[in-house]
Amino acid sequence: MIRFESVTKEYPDGTIAVNELSLTAPTGKITVLVGPSGCGKTTSLRMINRMIEPTGGRILVDDRDTSTIDSAELRRGIGYVIQHAGLFPHRTIVANIATVPLLLGWDRAQATSRALELMDRVGLPRSFAKRFPSQLSGGQQQRVGVARALAADPPVMLMDEPFSAVDPIVRDQLQDEFLRLQGEIGKTIVFVTHDIDEAIKLGDQVAVLRVGGTLAQLAAPEELLARPVDDFVADFVGRDRGYRTLGFRNAAFPTRAEPTTRLGATEADARAATGDPWILVLDDQDHPLGWVERERLDGPVTREALHRGGTVAPTDGSLRQALDAALSAPSGRGVIVGPDGVFVGTVRARDLIEPIEASAGRQHVATPEGVGVVSQSKAD
Ligand code: ADP
Ligand code: MG
Repeated sequence: MIRFESVTKEYPDGTIAVNELSLTAPTGKITVLVGPSGCGKTTSLRMINRMIEPTGGRILVDDRDTSTIDSAELRRGIGYVIQHAGLFPHRTIVANIATVPLLLGWDRAQATSRALELMDRVGLPRSFAKRFPSQLSGGQQQRVGVARALAADPPVMLMDEPFSAVDPIVRDQLQDEFLRLQGEIGKTIVFVTHDIDEAIKLGDQVAVLRVGGTLAQLAAPEELLARPVDDFVADFVGRDRGYRTLGFRNAAFPTRAEPTTRLGATEADARAATGDPWILVLDDQDHPLGWVERERLDGPVTREALHRGGTVAPTDGSLRQALDAALSAPSGRGVIVGPDGVFVGTVRARDLIEPIEASAGRQHVATPEGVGVVSQSKAD
């Protein structure tokens, strides 16, 4: 069991990322933290394994105050999976998965056989063992990330948007396999996502956070759908979910011109591009790389300064993909690319509402009772 007791994180620049958060993640269950970009999900997750230290309150793992546990010892019991899998590019798949067991002093044969067994578990053919990460698809790399986190059989798993960067169909498969796997292994999982559908599907309980790092509601998925505590939750869970259930429909949506800067640009050039708090960065071939935050920029635009959160949607993709891009971008502007990955423009969630409603026809009407309608469709 993991318990947050009035946990606060104030960064040195005064940003309050997490504010008096109290919640319990029960043993053997999946607790999902969901909310818009910047609401403190990653910060909350990283405070559990002390990659980030809280500035107030405390976190208990199985009734032990984590601040009193040696951080190396703490992390041995906690697997960690991130969005782009974070694999070592120059190590084979089997070596990537065996990393932690080898660090723990297992002998090589033992670590390898454990890694191969985990490949079976997460649905990777053993013939991939000697490949390198770049030779696998995004979805396969995420499976490797999950296998690696499970290698030392930690009782706790922290997962930070592990399936967000893969396309919606692969994401669905990964979610299904993840639930099947959890049925076998029963870990205590804290799972972070900005995608309410994913939260509803995976969570035994779901914590909805709002920007400023406060807890809006903690409830089982059915409860959240049926009885959101306030307009923020109703909006996030209900209306947004109503739109999201439209799934993979394609429909034209407008993109807007977006001022951009380039990797390597001087601070002055980057600032001159736009007065907006978020500036989009492209590479030499006009591929979007991420956003830089105006306030934090103190020098040229480097890879380290990039905020890489957020999915990218193709011009010929679905409304769902475009909405996902808009909701996951720190700027609130979803990045849209052409078939060659070249930047086209951005789209805001509100620009998508009209095409979404038009594409839904009379099927979907956003009424205050919409939440009830949505929970019905969930039961189908
Ligand atoms: P999420 O994962 O929900 O998108 P984060 O936990 O990454 O949110 O960030 C929460 C807030 O804290 C945001 O406003 C973010 O800009 C800010 N933040 C994150 N890391 C730092 C940092 N190292 N210094 C200052 N502010 C930060
Ligand atoms: Mg995050």
